[in-house]
Amino acid sequence: MSKEELNPFKIAQSQFDTAAELVNMDKAARAIMREPLRVLEVQVPVRMDSGEVRVFKGFRVQHNDARGPTKGGIRFHPEETLDTVKALSMWMTWKTSVADIPYGGAKGGVICNPKEMSKRELEQLSRNYIRAIGRFIGPEKDIPAPDVYTDPQIMAWMMDEYSHLVGYNAPGVITGKPIEVGGSLGRGDATALGGMYNIREAAKFLKMDLKKASVAVQGFGNAGHFAATLMKKMFGSKIVAISDSKSGVYNPDGLDVDEAVKYKEKNGQLAGFPGGQKVSNEELLELKVDILIPAAIENQLRKDNASKVNAKMIAELANGPTTPEADKILKEKGVFLIPDFLCNSGGVTVSYFEWVQNLYSYYWSEEEVHEKLDAKMTKAFHDVLDTYQKFGGKVNMREAANIVSIQRVETAMRIRGWF
Ligand code: GLU
Repeated sequence: MSKEELNPFKIAQSQFDTAAELVNMDKAARAIMREPLRVLEVQVPVRMDSGEVRVFKGFRVQHNDARGPTKGGIRFHPEETLDTVKALSMWMTWKTSVADIPYGGAKGGVICNPKEMSKRELEQLSRNYIRAIGRFIGPEKDIPAPDVYTDPQIMAWMMDEYSHLVGYNAPGVITGKPIEVGGSLGRGDATALGGMYNIREAAKFLKMDLKKASVAVQGFGNAGHFAATLMKKMFGSKIVAISDSKSGVYNPDGLDVDEAVKYKEKNGQLAGFPGGQKVSNEELLELKVDILIPAAIENQLRKDNASKVNAKMIAELANGPTTPEADKILKEKGVFLIPDFLCNSGGVTVSYFEWVQNLYSYYWSEEEVHEKLDAKMTKAFHDVLDTYQKFGGKVNMREAANIVSIQRVETAMRIRGWF
């Protein structure tokens, strides 16, 4: 049996090719969209607490800016690769397009293990990364944000460094900042909340009663822990399994997520949480549940385990959790999938609201943010669902979302005269 392709960039390109073929897209437009517009690789030296200088490698990739300045997060991850960042930048272009916000797509990353770094070392890394990519980004050019293992504090250091570089306060250069320095209310749990609005609409379509639904969430970071909390709070669903990067807990009668959040804060991990039995990340994906929420990292559902999925709906809060081979298997099984760049587009949508507020220097209430986010997500979900239904079973929701996104980008490129 041939080995499954797990290179995220190759996967992103193959997903793109499938959608481009379905709509018979222009050849030149395909050639532009299959590759990023610009790729930057930089050195990020940091004097470690030991006195030694370590040189980290960083990337910033801008995939497409036909619909507006490029936008996308920065990941600090030990296994970061240029191809992962390239894939994620392409997915950002589809994400901003499907959410219909006036941006293109970008992504950044630094190969490092933030869990092994002190706060001072992390600050140095964040500031020096921005010095290295400073001329490449800007409020009208390319606007970073948090992603895997980066948080509002890191965004604050980065915004401060950029402001020093240009000589004035430039809060609009980065989103996901703390409220005190230009962040938006409602940004913290926006990725998960956007996912909730998608799940709500999907449940209406599937006639699934969310109050009676059981849910498993893989990942307990920026997206996952809020997802578990919100599924319970908004819909009264039963959270039966949660996990972090090391391991998870399962209880068919339901877990106390608030207690789990406190436990994780105190112990730095979920392992040992007394509310249920131990479950591995792999096992969690195969549990019999109504809704499975992968909210960790890429390539979790693959050819080797997709047939074992026992969920009715998959709501992808992570970026790239499902491979194309797994997609085929899930489609045959009849699992309804809300694809990553639609399901998790709430994060970048509130980033957009934050940027608008920064440019206006006028700030909205949390209610206003939620109302606007709900409207955007509901519209995005139904735009995709309409396309899904139009193709009458020939495509899955990922392909439908891709069709919507790539056509919007193609139109913008055509009107601008790029091909
Ligand atoms: N990193 C998040 C994502 O993958 C947010 C990006 C942003 O807000 O720009 O969607």
